Amino acid sequence: MKNKKLGLNSICVHTGEVEDTQFKGAVSPIFVATSYAFDDVDVKRYPRYFNTPNQEQLAKKIATLEHTENAMIFSSGMAAISHSMMAFLKSGDHVILQQVIYGGTFNFVVKEFEKFGIEYTFTDSYDVNDFKALLQKNTKIIYIETPSNPLLGITDLRAITELAKNNGILTMIDNTFASPINQNPHDFGIDIIAHSATKYMGGHSDICAGAVAASNLHIEQIWATSINYGGNLSEYTIWLLERSLKTLNLRVKEQTRVAHKLATYLSDNKDIDTVYYPGLPSHPGYDIAKEQMKGFGAMLSFELKSGIDPMVFQRNLKFIKPSMSLAGLESTTVSPAQTTHALLSEEERLERGIRNGLIRFSTGIEEVEDLIEDIEQAIHASKH
Ligand SMILES: *Cc1c(COP(=O)(O)O)cnc(C)c1O
Repeated sequence: MKNKKLGLNSICVHTGEVEDTQFKGAVSPIFVATSYAFDDVDVKRYPRYFNTPNQEQLAKKIATLEHTENAMIFSSGMAAISHSMMAFLKSGDHVILQQVIYGGTFNFVVKEFEKFGIEYTFTDSYDVNDFKALLQKNTKIIYIETPSNPLLGITDLRAITELAKNNGILTMIDNTFASPINQNPHDFGIDIIAHSATKYMGGHSDICAGAVAASNLHIEQIWATSINYGGNLSEYTIWLLERSLKTLNLRVKEQTRVAHKLATYLSDNKDIDTVYYPGLPSHPGYDIAKEQMKGFGAMLSFELKSGIDPMVFQRNLKFIKPSMSLAGLESTTVSPAQTTHALLSEEERLERGIRNGLIRFSTGIEEVEDLIEDIEQAIHASKH
């Protein structure tokens, strides 16, 4: 048993359990202490040192899921992302990022980097050759997000890694949309893998958390910076996150299965123009996605035909909820042009491929027939 690699469900349930040696309970106890004896142990444990029993054990589960040596848990996805970036950057460094990255990350870069004299370049491309053209002598990090939001654009992990390694550059990915079940970027050489655990890892739309997975060496460096910023997660929420992760594989596999069926159905619906889902052969990133993803994920987007108002459509949905967040067990929608990208001009939105009728869909675990019925009746009720 010892040398056998555990299956995904077994890892989700068992890896990194905190053993209850006193009462032999079936689940991890929570260690809430902020003070640990230091006289007879060599580790100085403290929550902000990211080394309480619950933090250390949960990090093992996440590292195992992401095929890395180590991991750290944070109080939010943004804490994971910001602490990790600042761990490697100093004044005079340059970062290349994709324009399509999460809005909070975009804001972090635009609002904070200048204060520290860190240079950055955004690219609207998914093509490694365009990244190559942006390289500078001082480029330190290439930061990507694939599949991207909201059009599920796919970036070639292998190509990015090769470019970065040839130039001594660190690679960082936001792997939230795929989750470790559908994509393990470290297998393709990506150095640092960040997650908003608020999404699939938490999975029940009830906790806010983040995680980073990387080699021991990189985690050591992230740790050294993170203890200064202090973005650790409370032990109670860590425990909830551990409980959530036990069903990560079950949930995400099912959500992915339903999303794939839904995307296929939507691409045949005459009231819908384009469907964006990397699992559809018509998607421009399909071939690469097939190479680097184990499943195509549970996020998709589609364009309502003109004449169907996206806000009216969403109001007419019966149980599918309009919501900014994503990845829960319940299906949710958001219309980017009217919400997340509302501050851009229509011209800027169109440049990024975001049309007015675009709906981003986060697929839950409801039966696909029920989702189809709700979408169909909402389309019908929104026509005039
Ligand atoms: C939500 C999200 C984040 C930020 O995570 P928080 O937990 O809200 O801080 C980062 N990246 C992606 C892709 C997200 O969806």
